[in-house]
Amino acid sequence: MENCWICGDLADSKEHKFKASDLKRFYGKKFDCYYIQESAVQIESYKDRILKFPEIICTKCNVTLTRKHDDAYDIFINYCHQNYDLLLERAELNFENIYGKNWVEQKRNLYRYFAKHAGCKIVTSEYPQDLTDLSEFILGKEKTEKFTLRFELKMIIKLLHTFYNKDREFGHLFNAQTLYYGYYDNLTLAGWLSNNWITTNWVYSKNINPNKKSDFINKTERLKIVDLNYYDKNLLETESYYEMIKYFEFGKLNTLEKRIEHYKEIIE
Ligand SMILES: [Zn+2]
Repeated sequence: MENCWICGDLADSKEHKFKASDLKRFYGKKFDCYYIQESAVQIESYKDRILKFPEIICTKCNVTLTRKHDDAYDIFINYCHQNYDLLLERAELNFENIYGKNWVEQKRNLYRYFAKHAGCKIVTSEYPQDLTDLSEFILGKEKTEKFTLRFELKMIIKLLHTFYNKDREFGHLFNAQTLYYGYYDNLTLAGWLSNNWITTNWVYSKNINPNKKSDFINKTERLKIVDLNYYDKNLLETESYYEMIKYFEFGKLNTLEKRIEHYKEIIE
């Protein structure tokens, strides 16, 4: 058995690649949906093994210690689901509006939620890194030097949601493959997660520009609006449902080079 990358104890717990509560909220306990990575795989339950990381963290870190982080994420997602028009108009996230007076710590907890996800992705990638910066942040340190987020709103997913949600519960969850660039002792790793129209990009790197580092003093974060003009291919030409979803998620980021540019822009 491996050791938990967060606290060093024995790793006996499997973190979900998608949050179990998101899967249950969207699809119920038994469901019929597709897991899209390189190809689509049909899955039937939120407990499906493909939805989980192998055992790389311990139960304490996966459940007790990170419960506050999970709660901050749930509040964030509910707020984004309920305030689409406001978010579109303002193109920013206001953490005081999301969390109330405790927004500084709650914003940190939200970042810690994504830090756990990113750490699990990095540990299971081809190039595991020393994750001390991330684990200390998750365990309570107030800052992280190597990890940052950027939020986006994808209008096309809202359209899709409105269309399909008429006659059934429709939910969209997407987990982009971990990308890395740079050299062996100075790699940048990055990915994104989408929950309906809200996409959270994460980047782990030694090379984050000081003014792009995670900041828990700023009440607001920019929300990049990915509008319908972003897509240049006729949507009706897409071959299948999962091709369409991939297209909506990646848009113009259809090559490795373009995705690297996308992440570089977040940290440089
Ligand atoms: Zn642990």
